[in-house]
Amino acid sequence: MSELRLNRATKEWIIVAEERAKRPHEFHREEHKKKLPAFDPTCPFCPGNENKTPPEVFALRDKETEPNHPGWRIRVVTNKYPALDLERKINRITGEFFKRAMGVGKHEVIIESTQHNKSLATLSLKQVEEVCEIYWKRYLALKDDKRFKLIIIFRNHGISAGTSLNHPHSQLIALPLVPASIRHLLEEAMRYYDDHGSCVFCDMIHQELLHKKRIILDNKEFVVFHPFASRAPFETWVVPKKHNACFGNINQKEIRAMAWVLKEILGKLYVKLEDPDYNLMIRTAPIKDAQEDYYHWYIQILPRLSTPAGFELGSGVFINTSLPEETAKFITQ
Ligand SMILES: [Zn+2]
Ligand SMILES: [Zn+2]
Repeated sequence: MSELRLNRATKEWIIVAEERAKRPHEFHREEHKKKLPAFDPTCPFCPGNENKTPPEVFALRDKETEPNHPGWRIRVVTNKYPALDLERKINRITGEFFKRAMGVGKHEVIIESTQHNKSLATLSLKQVEEVCEIYWKRYLALKDDKRFKLIIIFRNHGISAGTSLNHPHSQLIALPLVPASIRHLLEEAMRYYDDHGSCVFCDMIHQELLHKKRIILDNKEFVVFHPFASRAPFETWVVPKKHNACFGNINQKEIRAMAWVLKEILGKLYVKLEDPDYNLMIRTAPIKDAQEDYYHWYIQILPRLSTPAGFELGSGVFINTSLPEETAKFITQ
């Protein structure tokens, strides 16, 4: 029997197709990924190749080393091929049916390590803490720029997650608008808040903790689970327990906790599924909604173990070929 399930926070329906369901261990990669070297002389993110990227915006580096030279631990640069850039003026052309605006925004790359073959799952905890702290610092550095409405921080790991460079890195895009999908998410959260007087995300973590079956990790600061209505096998939500609409409102202690949780969770995926490709997104409220009671920031991790096809693209309804209850059990065993 297949089952339709509703994600109360996103209002997305998904289909759990049990007949077609794979057992969790069947998602384990058959062939090993090609082993990468610790240094690749052709990689623009490897040390010594600093002149192959645009100048650095920010870096954690050893004392007495110069910007755009070796000596860094983490480096933030503008994307060489930005999806959006600051050099353009916001210039909406109105009065026409086919609307367009200049692609104004900021597109940064956070180079997470000097080592070409590392990832958040295999870096030291200290290094992951520094990466998370840089996410936070870059968010705070950009949020007061009036041109930006929403800041998205994300990480694409592996070719099927859309990355073109293997060297460990995350990206940040500051957008001059709030896209319809995010507006929809906010409207649904607001409607839930009006109906119930509580935040749908706070209620969801409460319910997941009651049901227990999909919980991966539960500590003082975060709850991690495979959502009841997961879009894809092993979809993972990392939700802070403290109600807070905006990632930028996080504090130092929570950054440390976030780093520990990310390393732990990505480490489990790395071991159990043999380093799967995945997308990781920090889902935070638009800048102006940072203090709202109805929204709640969280991290979404989507392993790329299946490919959305015509049905998903045509309907917006995802078919999940695994049971979140089973994948949660498998990953925590
Ligand atoms: Zn590299
Ligand atoms: Zn909440």
